[in-house]
Amino acid sequence: MSSESDFLAWIKTQQHATPLVQLPAGDDLAVLSWNAGDLLLIGVDQVLDQVHFDSAVHPPRAIGIKAMNRNISDCAAMGCLPAAALVSVALPRGSGVDYAKELYQGLREAADRFDCAIVGGDTGTWDGKLAISVTILGRSAGIKPITRDGATPGDGIYVTGPLGGSILGRHMTFSPRVHEGRQLAGSGRVTAMIDISDGLSRDLPRICSNAVLDAAVIPIHPDVELGFPVSRAPARTPLEHALHDGEDYELLFTARSTPPLGTRIGTVTAEGGLQLRSASRKLDPLVPLGWEHEL
Ligand SMILES: [Mg+2]
Repeated sequence: MSSESDFLAWIKTQQHATPLVQLPAGDDLAVLSWNAGDLLLIGVDQVLDQVHFDSAVHPPRAIGIKAMNRNISDCAAMGCLPAAALVSVALPRGSGVDYAKELYQGLREAADRFDCAIVGGDTGTWDGKLAISVTILGRSAGIKPITRDGATPGDGIYVTGPLGGSILGRHMTFSPRVHEGRQLAGSGRVTAMIDISDGLSRDLPRICSNAVLDAAVIPIHPDVELGFPVSRAPARTPLEHALHDGEDYELLFTARSTPPLGTRIGTVTAEGGLQLRSASRKLDPLVPLGWEHEL
């Protein structure tokens, strides 16, 4: 990068002021005002080149959008509003100021959609690949956050949209379900909620350990029908794509009575582990095959 101070000066001109921001990025710390009674929800998530995106294929603006939207999706999963974000970027040496600006524009574009201010961050260059870490601050704004542990036997299991095939492009361009998450959390009917990042089969056990999913009613995204010309894994059926692909960023939730939105895909049970009921009513164990990082 030619000049870090030029880049930081440029960032100062780009900031989006929201009513919460008393002092934006540029001092040692930013200062936010917080409405009385608001809960602060806070989390961090990183995206890494060759894991969550491919810098040889995806332009920096798209990478910035994804990095921010993954965090905003976590706000959706709790039913809170994204309020502010902090961004730490490790740039490959020689990326250039224009690349860094495009990355920032992507981060900001995604944040602006939800009136979320980027209030601080840090940029460094190194000999490694691009890595972006975003810390998100959410606020409850009058709605009690929904956690992962409230499901009880008899609750319905729902998703906010069709699943599968995100690798064909949607994993970069998804829209976080913040408004849906607010509506669901505010309905008083939702008992547990999570956003689907690792795949239905891997994220479901995070909200309930016993359930029956009905294969015939799991919504499959039209992308799956486009096919997978370059398949990394043994060929999957459309249903298997919907169960295991991941990075759908739809909300997966349980509800004790009919929620204001969502497609019902199953029921929380008292025992039996996670099971999948075929169209012919046969029950089989649901084996988690979604995404898991190797350490
Ligand atoms: Mg999440």
